[in-house]
Amino acid sequence: MAEQALQRTVNFQFPFTINRSYTVRRVLSVTLLVAASVTTRATAQFPQPSGFAVDDPVLRRIWAIETDSSQLPHLAQVLFDSLGPRLTASPGMTAAQNWLLATYTAWGITARKEQYGTWRSWRRGKTHIDLVAPRARTLEGTALAWSPPTPRGRPLRASVVILPDVADSAALVAWLPQARGKFVLIAMPQPTCRPDDSWEKWATPSTVDSMKARRTAAQQAWQQRLQRTGYVTGGGVAGAAGLSRRLEAAGAAGIIGSFWSQGWGVQKIFTAYTDRAPVLDIACEDYGLLYRLAENKQSPIIEVTAESQALGEVPVFNVVGEIKGSQLPNEYVMLSAHFDSWDGGSGATDNGTGSITMLEAMRILKQVYPNPRRTILVGHWSGEEQGLNGSRGYVHDHPEVASGLQALFNQDNGTGRVENMSASGFPDAAASLARYLARVPADITRNIKFGFPGAPSGGGTDHASFVSCGAPGFGLGSGDWDYGRYTWHTNRDTYDKISWDDVKNNAALAAMLVYLASEDTVRMSREKRTVFSLTPGGQPGAWPECRDAQRSTPPLVPAPPPPPAARP
Ligand SMILES: [Zn+2]
Repeated sequence: MAEQALQRTVNFQFPFTINRSYTVRRVLSVTLLVAASVTTRATAQFPQPSGFAVDDPVLRRIWAIETDSSQLPHLAQVLFDSLGPRLTASPGMTAAQNWLLATYTAWGITARKEQYGTWRSWRRGKTHIDLVAPRARTLEGTALAWSPPTPRGRPLRASVVILPDVADSAALVAWLPQARGKFVLIAMPQPTCRPDDSWEKWATPSTVDSMKARRTAAQQAWQQRLQRTGYVTGGGVAGAAGLSRRLEAAGAAGIIGSFWSQGWGVQKIFTAYTDRAPVLDIACEDYGLLYRLAENKQSPIIEVTAESQALGEVPVFNVVGEIKGSQLPNEYVMLSAHFDSWDGGSGATDNGTGSITMLEAMRILKQVYPNPRRTILVGHWSGEEQGLNGSRGYVHDHPEVASGLQALFNQDNGTGRVENMSASGFPDAAASLARYLARVPADITRNIKFGFPGAPSGGGTDHASFVSCGAPGFGLGSGDWDYGRYTWHTNRDTYDKISWDDVKNNAALAAMLVYLASEDTVRMSREKRTVFSLTPGGQPGAWPECRDAQRSTPPLVPAPPPPPAARP
């Protein structure tokens, strides 16, 4: 068994994963054996996935390499555990991009950093939050991205107060002196941190209904409380930016929210909108504890250490890899996945898995298809989480790639195997994609639902940057794996959440699609659909607008004026 596996391995890839001395001793004899038998045994020596429709040695090699000697777990461990999350413009992103370049260089693949703009750089340090009164307890929480530190990064001890239920903005201003030097809770306390499916499993239906009704009423009341302050412009963290700035201007020690992701132990960790007061997210259970202590006048005091460094506006880059085309070098087939992440976890499924899928596909293509017909590119975008900025910038900076694009394949929704594809609203492109998929083994395509012709994506992830500008970009849509609730932008987006068989499947699929699109004798159609369903607002739909990137950090919401009492 081991012998047979080795025969498959040596012919086509670096013996990375095999004990080196063992490999070297055996390479010569095995190579001779393989060379002698390669014509007769070319098909027999590879694993036989069910459902190859054509006997194409390149497709078989792609499958064999990913099956026998995937590099995905190794790449992921280095990237997610050691390098960690990749917040746009952070030193962590720079380190991860340098690793990406070094990895491509080691594989003999040309890769470069391309600047598309500048962004605010910030380095996360440690966050430590303890309840110190009325009793000691270490709380589960962290600073939001781009949060200012506690003064000099030192422990800051202060009492905790709840944003009051004021009648209007004037009443809030009158209250603001009481926020000075205190941590202010601005999120609704969840009535339960137990996910709904647990309630539905264990409670009677009437108990579930009454819990949900009480929660809905509490959510509406809290939204009204926020609106009445006069400083909230919408939902979520961004909507409360003005309120955060107001509390900061009033001298609050810090601002505390809690963005529960509706599962056990999951919080979404987004961005702070202050430049002096630290902004923390405290996990559902501990946030509720602080809230109840404050509400019941039990005088909670916490001690917070939040370290971070604001490093100013710095250049930001995409990483682009290339295998030059031998016959049509000015036509392009592109792999695509954003490399940046939020930083509450490791960015493992958003979009670490998409990133290593494309990285692995390039590694395999370099071995099995080193002289492609068209030029193969890979785009590891930055700034996706701030609005597809890296990919939008690339499309505008590279009109020759947008106009010469045969096809782009993007993946950005977690660890699951690809289950959804569409022609992105290019009706005749569906025929090309169907031809490719018909050559991919049924083991991979069996579960893929294809949308004819699909709709153009206007946002959400990076193929939209291409599609909106009329270039044929396609999303590889993964199975759900509780992505939205448990890993997307959460503190639990970590290495252990990955389903390796599925990511291996996706890397093989991506490599096969690129090979087939590169070899295609037919140019991919760009004819657009002209009839659209109505928008949710009842407006006629249209092809999305081709927009340039936001090329630098937008300014923070201006600090509101200090309250009247504090004016000189
Ligand atoms: Zn993403």
